[in-house]
Amino acid sequence: MIEVVPSICSYCGVGCGLGLRVQGDRIIGVEPQSGHPVSQGQLCAKGWSTSFAVDPAQRLVHPLIKERGAFREAGWDETLDLVAEKFREALADGGPTAVGVISCARATNEDNYAAQKFARAVLKTHNIDHCARICHSPSVAGLARTLGSGAMTNGIVDIDLADLILVIGADVTENHAMIGARILRAQDRGAKLIVVDPRKTRLARLADWHLQLRLGTNIALINGLLHIIFAQGWEARDFLDRRCADADALRRHVAGIALDEVVALTGVPEDQLRAVAHAYSHAKAAFLAYGMGITQFQSGTNNVIAVSNLALSCGQIGRPGTGINPLRGQNNVQGACDMGCLPNVFPGYQDVADPAHAAKFTQAWNTSLPTAPGLTSLGMTKAALAGDFRALMILGEDPVLTDPDQNHVARSLAALDFLVVVETAMTETAKLADVVLPAAAFAEKDGSFTNCERRVQRVRRAVPPPGEARTDWQILGALAQRLGQPGLRWPDAEAIFDEMVGLSPMFSAMSYAKLDRHHGLQWPCDGEHPEGSPLLHAERFPLGKARLLPVSQVAPAEVPDADYPFAFTTHRLHFHYGCGSMTRRSPLLERETPTGLLFMHPDDGRGMGLREGQGVRVSSRRGVLETRVHLTDDVPAGTVAMPYHFKEAPCNRLTNDAQDPSTKMPELKACAVAVTALPPGQAPRRLEFDEPAHERL
Ligand code: SF4
Repeated sequence: MIEVVPSICSYCGVGCGLGLRVQGDRIIGVEPQSGHPVSQGQLCAKGWSTSFAVDPAQRLVHPLIKERGAFREAGWDETLDLVAEKFREALADGGPTAVGVISCARATNEDNYAAQKFARAVLKTHNIDHCARICHSPSVAGLARTLGSGAMTNGIVDIDLADLILVIGADVTENHAMIGARILRAQDRGAKLIVVDPRKTRLARLADWHLQLRLGTNIALINGLLHIIFAQGWEARDFLDRRCADADALRRHVAGIALDEVVALTGVPEDQLRAVAHAYSHAKAAFLAYGMGITQFQSGTNNVIAVSNLALSCGQIGRPGTGINPLRGQNNVQGACDMGCLPNVFPGYQDVADPAHAAKFTQAWNTSLPTAPGLTSLGMTKAALAGDFRALMILGEDPVLTDPDQNHVARSLAALDFLVVVETAMTETAKLADVVLPAAAFAEKDGSFTNCERRVQRVRRAVPPPGEARTDWQILGALAQRLGQPGLRWPDAEAIFDEMVGLSPMFSAMSYAKLDRHHGLQWPCDGEHPEGSPLLHAERFPLGKARLLPVSQVAPAEVPDADYPFAFTTHRLHFHYGCGSMTRRSPLLERETPTGLLFMHPDDGRGMGLREGQGVRVSSRRGVLETRVHLTDDVPAGTVAMPYHFKEAPCNRLTNDAQDPSTKMPELKACAVAVTALPPGQAPRRLEFDEPAHERL
């Protein structure tokens, strides 16, 4: 007999509803959940392939301890005793600032709550972070400064209500496929579509206007639009008067910008800028969505502020069909932030430096807590390289593949006294660990995920974990017990959720029973909003009045020169996800795009005498790799691009870790590289770490 267990897709932040088809103890497939408000009975190719991601045949099923460079299987007691001993030694040697935890944007809210509580209440450190650092930390910081809250202001269903959709720096059909499909349906019914992107994405090719700006010129372009809007009197004056502060400062700032300089800098013709400025400012309801093409720059926070300035100036926020909508990448990256897996906030964005919040958590957890904010994930790896960091736990992330400057990350992890990785399958990062602990996947545990529109949704245990795998919160509870803190023992996931709700005002009216009844609920969900909040900022902003903050163009830290003549950027592909640790287990997805590629304009390829599929060597100041070239006008001449899913062509070996000063977001979207052809017929090799970056053929 086949049972269908309702769950949520574990790939991207759209949070589509699916049913896990279970026979005995095996997941034999998935099906879309009918009536789901986000996915409306549909799934993308990745969603349909979910069962491969949890296939027991490719999973870690025993704890592993590394001895003399090789892993051996071990029992839980022996392994947890060793991990506890190593953390005790690290704490004795370096104190709480020398240990930390990197949590997981794919794990449940309950796992993430347990991870930050383990760091704070057991290790006595706020050194807790996760991959939001390298995707949307500028959204959290930038929108907190302009609005007072850093998440999508509207729901995904609002796309249906918009008469104009503006997508900036987001490849939606590839990364958030069901949102991409919704946007295309909106265009079919008459909504205008504008895409701002240096690449000709699939959506850009179908858009009414594609502003193909030069890589890293977002602020210049948005300030150019604002210059036109204010000069023409197209701004929303009544909205600016009633709801915003500092409009005159922004008006003066953009009045001083020369439009011909914007055109020269961005490469976007003036008539396109004027047409888009008119369309966006005159739309009845304009839904603005953006992605990592805005955030992953050293100017990431200011890029987000520029986006916010545009929406506020035109009054395109606080109404159905409008809003500022950062498209979060991983299935639960919103939830991992909400749960306080950040070095400066407790669950529910309660500042760790605020004495009232610290006192509340100290009392609730019945233990002393640190007072100073902790290190970011990149701060921890940098401290490790400097010899100031001893022990690190990484739950479900693969920074060797996903963080910038891979050689630097690998050297940093090797410099630790002790690294423990909790994972479902062996990854490039897990290979560097001293201990690897087998984790349960999403279909093997109860809990909740929060999608990009703030919707908290239930996932359920459909099958038991394979072998000896356990949930993260069970592992952390057992470890906490060994380290003398019994307060992380919960009977089930619901008890964790209830503890979190009791401590986080923004979730105070949520319960599993209510989530089940409503297909999830969007936060804030409290006494004032007992059924959740599909729309934010309708009457007022958390700051009271929203702030318009003048910002100026900042060029990428590294631009092409004689040694590294190509601008380089990264992107994702429809058929793969993240570091590929889940999607690459699916033969169907792997068949579509089986290996890494360098996307290059045909004119550049011709200039170098390259043929489609030929091997190339790509090098930056940080590293070198080999891959195959794909000649396409998806990228403009002079710019090359690589997806980051492929460990045999790990493009983050090339990327730059120059950082946004506010959030430490590395500049993953822009650096400079050199490309040289491999001899015809020579296949690309998988190069090891630290091969000389400057080597030429
Ligand atoms: Fe899963 Fe995202 Fe595809 Fe929906 S759009 S099925 S959440 S990968």
